[in-house]
Amino acid sequence: MKYEEIPFMHWGIINKYNFSDDKIDRVPVKVFDPLLTHRYSIYGTTGHFSYISPVRGYRPKGVDFEKRKRSDVFRKIIEGQDWAIYITLDDNLKSSPFEKTPYMFCSEKYRAATIINRFPSYVRIIDDEVLERIKRIDDKIAGSISRGINLVTFPIKYCESVSEIDSDYLFWIIKSMNAAISYSIKEANRIGYGRIVVYPFFNIGPLAGGSQPRLHSQVYIDLNSDGHGLLMDIALTVFRSGGEQCPLCEDLEEGVIIYQNDTWTLWAARAPKRNFQLRFAPKRHVEYITDLSLKEIRGLADILIRSNKALDALGVNENRNIIFYTKPMGYGFNFHLFGEILPWENIGGVELLDTCRVVRISPRSVAGMVREQIGKETKL
Ligand SMILES: [Zn+2]
Repeated sequence: MKYEEIPFMHWGIINKYNFSDDKIDRVPVKVFDPLLTHRYSIYGTTGHFSYISPVRGYRPKGVDFEKRKRSDVFRKIIEGQDWAIYITLDDNLKSSPFEKTPYMFCSEKYRAATIINRFPSYVRIIDDEVLERIKRIDDKIAGSISRGINLVTFPIKYCESVSEIDSDYLFWIIKSMNAAISYSIKEANRIGYGRIVVYPFFNIGPLAGGSQPRLHSQVYIDLNSDGHGLLMDIALTVFRSGGEQCPLCEDLEEGVIIYQNDTWTLWAARAPKRNFQLRFAPKRHVEYITDLSLKEIRGLADILIRSNKALDALGVNENRNIIFYTKPMGYGFNFHLFGEILPWENIGGVELLDTCRVVRISPRSVAGMVREQIGKETKL
């Protein structure tokens, strides 16, 4: 696709051809809530923030609730019949994370691929002259334009959930995603971005925010260098205040441990955000998701597949989020990577008022049920 033909904000590109003054309110911004923002530290602001990005509303919906019609936008991309910017094919670099022109490329011979999200929440490329024009129109908006990279990783072989995927394919999804994160950070560092918050996750099922039926992971790479949200701040503070001691390197309470393989531990969250919330962490003190060894990525695939299968067997809602807390780049203190599996649920007022949750099943019961289920699977 020619640079002058790229629609406004597709692949995070704002250029002199697609920008006009009437689009000023469609430029993505990051805004901290003045009533829910409390701290200004060396790492910037801490509080609730919103990424406001109207282009998100234009993304294709893979699942139409009324017609139950399924379509898969990744198929045409894989076949080389739709535009894309590939960052990695398996774990090989294809294009720079700051590539400006989408192209068509057949990726059928690979196992997993990572592309730039076509409908992102960040500006990735902005022409200097456009930036000047935006500043002339509105200084305030120009000051908070939200910059970053949105990645999407998917398996070449179609599947919809972590329970049904072959462990080798899940291994390659994580490997492709990690390679793309590493390339993106390296490139961002090279052009002057220092503090980078990285948010990797899977949205599985339409209720969990998965707008596409094909299994895929996403990464939000925030290049704004202006701070982070409250939960990330709390996690960073817990690890920092531990000094040399790390809460995840110490022994976990045995009653909530569900399963361990050579490299990972799976347990039931002690103060669950959802019923059946599970947590997992590498046994080694790994700070960044990109530092996982090949063996640890295999172990992660194993733990994700076993736990999701067990949740399926227990009748837990199949719409799920899998999220990873990884240390932001350019932050100076200690951290231990961990992740969560969060089955979808409605939430109510008290849960909107605070970072709290009312659940009905105790973590020990959850641990017992999932442990038993994983045991059954292993015997089969
Ligand atoms: Zn640790």
